[in-house]
Amino acid sequence: MARQTLRDGLLGLIRRTPVVDCHSHTMLRRDYCQEQWSLFNLMSYFARDIASVTGKDVGTLMDGAKNDQERWERLKGVLEKSRNVSYWRHYILMYQELFGLKGDDLTDRNWKGVNEQIKKKAGGATWYDDITRKRCRIKTAVRNIPWFEDWEPEYFTAVLRMESALALYEKPTRDALAKHVGMSIGSLKAAKAALAKLTEQYAAQGAVGVKLAHAYRRTLASEPVSEATASRIFRKALAGKELSWPEAKQVEDHIIFFLGELASDMDLVFQIHTGVQGNYSVIPDSNPLHLIPLLLAFPRVKFDLFHAGYPYSREMGMLGKHHPNTYLNMCWMYVITMEGSRRSLAEWIDLVPGHRLLGFGSDVGTPEFILSHLRMAESCLADVLARKVERDFLSKTAATDLVRMMLHDNACELYGLEGNR
Ligand SMILES: [Zn+2]
Repeated sequence: MARQTLRDGLLGLIRRTPVVDCHSHTMLRRDYCQEQWSLFNLMSYFARDIASVTGKDVGTLMDGAKNDQERWERLKGVLEKSRNVSYWRHYILMYQELFGLKGDDLTDRNWKGVNEQIKKKAGGATWYDDITRKRCRIKTAVRNIPWFEDWEPEYFTAVLRMESALALYEKPTRDALAKHVGMSIGSLKAAKAALAKLTEQYAAQGAVGVKLAHAYRRTLASEPVSEATASRIFRKALAGKELSWPEAKQVEDHIIFFLGELASDMDLVFQIHTGVQGNYSVIPDSNPLHLIPLLLAFPRVKFDLFHAGYPYSREMGMLGKHHPNTYLNMCWMYVITMEGSRRSLAEWIDLVPGHRLLGFGSDVGTPEFILSHLRMAESCLADVLARKVERDFLSKTAATDLVRMMLHDNACELYGLEGNR
């Protein structure tokens, strides 16, 4: 009974605490409101399990279906094989809280009602605000902004996405950057100057960091490469010659370290995707321990490490313990695995000073999925903090402080969001 009370009390506190969404890809409101939503396109990460079960993306799966009944039959076929996964439970919570689902799963009997409700409610402009601001209590969401795109500052805080910077040895990427900043790129030095100019432009408009998600396609391991070596290889690319992967990697590594310099000079947060990738990926490439040379090279830069490094969360905990320039970000994690989230947090709270733990990042496309992700996060946080108090001698003061720190204050501090405090 006491345990229930403690957890409930913490959950109540969590549900009253304002939130900074520490990693977002949410659609801009203007785009979200253009869309016609239904049960069959209001989708998030379960699309990846659909691909894993059927070998098809959602569009291909639904291709040629004459009506919603047929679409439901196809989705049901996938659910029969995979409704256990966390990515699906993320949807269930959303259907329950927002679209009138009474039961604990979608069935032949209730799918139509949910579909109707989605068609009626989703896509509305006030709906967008109601969910993000009222139900989720989100002050701002730190959003990935691809090169040359803009954002809605009333909802988002920008971080400039930098995978394209690693691909500057490719002509189309180079030409696009040169055109945008109005500079010609005839050398590696000029490419770096153009990158600096682009970053300055975004920072001047309020961007607070740069982000790399290169672990989706290559190893996080990078090492310092001299400008002479990188320039020689870059000249080869400028001459239109194909680079081998070891050559391309040296240029990429050089740029990764250059981004570290930029972050240091311009006082920007350096966000890096670690852990969890897509189907058929090379999982060890995403191990955050590969980042140690970079972390050591830039002790003044604040590295914001994503996705709990899962499955390398324990490694991430030790990075947090021994590298004071790292921030451990739980973005995406609760929808990946609630059990893994609880274990990661339970260990990190033992290891890492709490001011460097970031408790929530939605990492989804629409407000509805932010909400159900946040509900999973709230539940895990309450579970973990209650257990730490009861079994591991964590004081109640420390536990309640952590709630506000992990959901709000740490992010304000890290991203410099004074206005949102
Ligand atoms: Zn993301």
